Amino acid sequence: MKRHLKWLALFALVAVTACGTNPVTKKTEFQFVSQAQEISIGTQNYSPARQSQGGDYVIDPELTAYVQAVGKRLAAVSDRPDLPYEFVVLNDSVPNAWAMPGGKIAFNRGLLYELNSEAELAAVMGHEIVHAAARHGAKSMERGILLQGAMIAVGIGAQNTDYANLIVGGAQLGAQLATSKYGRDAESESDYYGMQYMKKAGYDPSAAVTLQETFVRLSEGKKSDFITGLFASHPPSQERVDANKETLKKLGAGGEMGKDTYAEKVAKVKATRPAYKAYDEALIAFKKGDTATATKLANQAIAGEPREARFQELLGDIALTQKKPTEALSFYEKAIKMQPDYFKPHIQSGIALFNMGKKAEAEVFLNRANALLPTAPGHALLGQIAEGRGQTDVALKHYQVAASSNSEIGKESLTRAVKIDLPRNPSKYIQSGPVADGSGALYAAVQNATSLPIGRVQVRMIKYDAKSGRPVAQSRPMIINGVAPGKRNQVAVGESVRTQQELQLYKVVVDAAELAQ
Ligand SMILES: [Zn+2]
Repeated sequence: MKRHLKWLALFALVAVTACGTNPVTKKTEFQFVSQAQEISIGTQNYSPARQSQGGDYVIDPELTAYVQAVGKRLAAVSDRPDLPYEFVVLNDSVPNAWAMPGGKIAFNRGLLYELNSEAELAAVMGHEIVHAAARHGAKSMERGILLQGAMIAVGIGAQNTDYANLIVGGAQLGAQLATSKYGRDAESESDYYGMQYMKKAGYDPSAAVTLQETFVRLSEGKKSDFITGLFASHPPSQERVDANKETLKKLGAGGEMGKDTYAEKVAKVKATRPAYKAYDEALIAFKKGDTATATKLANQAIAGEPREARFQELLGDIALTQKKPTEALSFYEKAIKMQPDYFKPHIQSGIALFNMGKKAEAEVFLNRANALLPTAPGHALLGQIAEGRGQTDVALKHYQVAASSNSEIGKESLTRAVKIDLPRNPSKYIQSGPVADGSGALYAAVQNATSLPIGRVQVRMIKYDAKSGRPVAQSRPMIINGVAPGKRNQVAVGESVRTQQELQLYKVVVDAAELAQ
């Protein structure tokens, strides 16, 4: 008779991630976001979002004050003047603007180059204020849209840093909120009410039409900066131009254009545009490994704007890749003096010091960096420092946070976390259950739910009484040697069962496990 194996009563093959689930890739269920929650989401995420988008443009506080004044003027006439609005200029050459729930709005330096009047600034501002006032971001969150494409959005988000995929924890949401796309209805609603706000605030709404026309022209020219920036979230079209023309007819042209005021207020930032262009080109050269060109362009940028922290930081990054950590540290120190609240020179200083073996000094910088923007390298290195001191629990927490990043550092941190946690909580990483073959021989089987090879698992088989449901017998400890990632292995118990019902009276307990050496 042909004997075929019958694998019975297999344990539930639930996909478990070792070290907890990534909070961002997990889809949330529909749930109403109250105004209080909306405001708290915006407040909590505004800062990490700005960190992930190049940081604040701090050199020209008058420019920021000007953008804030225009923003407040429009917010005051909006449908939700009570929101805790905030406006900031970000140090990013990509022409872009965004709004987060609760009225947290940001304008990139790169967009200010492209506008020609205060009324055009008001047109973009009015549009973004509607996104906040009409709860477009909060509605996306309610539908769970935001949380699905998290990793992709973060990738788009952090344009200016190499830390795009290394942001961890709640900060991932901030980066994503800043780069979220709204539907076409939300966009036309923002165009329509944005123009109403312009009119109410005394601006000429015809600027919204000319601005859209400029955007259509720029998008036809496929200006790459715009495609990655504003146009990615706000695709320009003739349709939008026509709709704005219709709105203009109803509202009537006329009002403040503010061409001269705008020109005066952006004169300084426009004057240093070539310096930032040199810096942006230096970054590209540096990414290609051309450090000579990158250094030359960075120095050119410094000559054009000696106060810019990012330029010093780039020289630091170049020195760090050339294995000159002391030199790198002196550039980072300059960058931190110029702008103390941007995460990158802090994390880079921490890495440089860690590599030099100065762990206590590194720790200070890494903690400061993580407070500004939590990243996988920040947590991974703090984990290693804690582990070196014998603070295993602290280390484990850091590794688990770092492991949520979809990166090499994330994978390495997961390995380190599992190494610590597997011997303590083996059943968290190893599923187990009884199986029987065709002849009824009983085995204790285990499945490795991690992505790492497990060297040795110690199990016990427990037998329960059919009537009382109480345990009545247990096997001696048994060893299963070698379980490959995602695979199963088993050990014979030396008993046999006749039926499925009988098999279900057994359970396998994992008592100990260790990773393969
Ligand atoms: Zn929009």
